Amino acid sequence: MAKTVLITGGSRGIGRAAAVLFASRGWNVAFSFVGNQQSADETRALCERAGVTGNAFARKCDVRDEDSVIDFFRTAYERFGAIDGVVNNAGIVAPKSTLADMDVDRMKNVFDTNVLGAYLVAREAARMLTNGGSIVNVSSMAAKLGSPGEYVDYAGSKGAIDTLTIGLSKELGPKGIRVNAVRPGIINTDIHASAGRPERVSELGPGCPLGRAGNADEVAQSIYWLISDDASYVTGAILDVSGGR
Ligand code: NDP
Repeated sequence: MAKTVLITGGSRGIGRAAAVLFASRGWNVAFSFVGNQQSADETRALCERAGVTGNAFARKCDVRDEDSVIDFFRTAYERFGAIDGVVNNAGIVAPKSTLADMDVDRMKNVFDTNVLGAYLVAREAARMLTNGGSIVNVSSMAAKLGSPGEYVDYAGSKGAIDTLTIGLSKELGPKGIRVNAVRPGIINTDIHASAGRPERVSELGPGCPLGRAGNADEVAQSIYWLISDDASYVTGAILDVSGGR
């Protein structure tokens, strides 16, 4: 029987690349979007082309909202009968700012999406993955580097994801559930334009030891490996996918 992966924020970027990769490997894919129905439709079409017809399912879900997250898990479970893997991917960055100039609304939105949202998704995963399984949280190199003068709120939110990964791996290990994270570096997706700085990719990519920004497919490959049985003895790991940044 095909396995099922649930991915938050699958309508674009890293989440979309992961959705298409899982579909191409024969997994059922339940992915969420928050507002971009057109992008979600595109992801679903890409999944259907890559995988088995009918194996991709899109649901609107705002990870900041508890009921919305619970509904996403419930409908995915009803559709596919099981959830074997969870990719806790949805996240945002706010425009460049020093901490001194950040207002509370901005910081709340970043923490509600990246921290509360990720914890709600991890909680539902902990409740639903009763028969083994695997969770991958999407952190960021910002958790290591701090993003001074740009996004210290975002960096702190991703630091919380690293800590969640460590704690939850110990909490769920005895149930046979593995919990890992990836820390992407500079990846060419919409997130930089959403934060008002599309030029970040071309400015910072060449400075990485590998000399370029990464692409979403390269992060998806690492996510897939960590979720898959090929990583059956890996838990509590936080894997940098950053071209050495
Ligand atoms: P994108 O901006 O390309 O995609 C973001 C996705 O998250 C979209 O599917 C979006 O849905 C969804 N989303 C946004 N807000 C919410 C919300 N409140 N509830 C549910 N879904 C939401 O981002 P990336 O693919 O670049 O980023 C994915 C993850 O990778 C994030 O956690 C990010 O922090 C992390 N990351 C990215 C890096 C990069 O350089 N790109 C570097 C390090 C980490 P919709 O399409 O409907 O808006």
